This record gives sequence, structure tokens and C-alpha cells, in this order.
Amino acid sequence: MAEDGSPTPAAEPPRPHLPAGATMADFQRYIHDLEAFHGWLDVDLVHNCFLMGEEVGELFKAVRKVNRLFDEPEKGPAGATAERVAHVGEELVDVLNYLLAIANRLDIDVEAAFRAKNTANLARTWD
Ligand SMILES: [Mg+2]
Repeated sequence: MAEDGSPTPAAEPPRPHLPAGATMADFQRYIHDLEAFHGWLDVDLVHNCFLMGEEVGELFKAVRKVNRLFDEPEKGPAGATAERVAHVGEELVDVLNYLLAIANRLDIDVEAAFRAKNTANLARTWD
């Protein structure tokens, strides 16, 4: 409570910061801080999976736009223009953000999981 008796406003969570040369742990911490900043930490695991699925759809649409699949010819030629590629990049980040949010909810160390899984994949064969 403030000196004048008025209620003290709740402290705003710190603005997230991602340092240059960030590690994967830094990225996971950034997403935690971003969710705290926006008040999204209570969004549960399953909802984050659904939201990531929506973003995967947006990513696929952005990739489709690169190739102009199913678009009317008058909208222009297919091709990886800088604008289209930038949009794919934006949607990749949306997917990554949810992936890290999901990992955070399960206390998964993404770097350790990445290394372990890809080490296993190196020894694996696909028929
Ligand atoms: Mg998106």
C-alpha cells in the first residue's frame, strides 16, 4: 500500500531480454519471461499444443505462398521473394515460440534433448 493509503499497483513483470549470442537455455528463459510479461503462463500444455498447431498451419500457408500453389495466376509468378521468405521466417518463429513454451511447461532442456535425439538419429537408419 502506498503512503497515501492507495493500493500499490502490481509490479509489471520485467520486459524480456535475449542477449546476443544467446544459448538455447537463454531462448527458453526468454519465452518464459515473454509469457510472464503478457500474462500467458497459465495457458496450459494442451492449449499451447493447439496454438502451435495453428502456427504450423500459418507456416505451411506461408510456404505455399512462396510456390503460389493454388493461387490465381493473375496474382503473379511463384518465387521466393524476400517478402515471402521473411513471412516464412516470421511463422517459423511463431512455431518455435510455442515449441519452447511447451518444453518449458514440462521442464525439458531443449538443448540436451536436441543433442540426445540427434545423436540417436545419427546411429539410426530409415528403410
Ligand atoms: Mg503466425
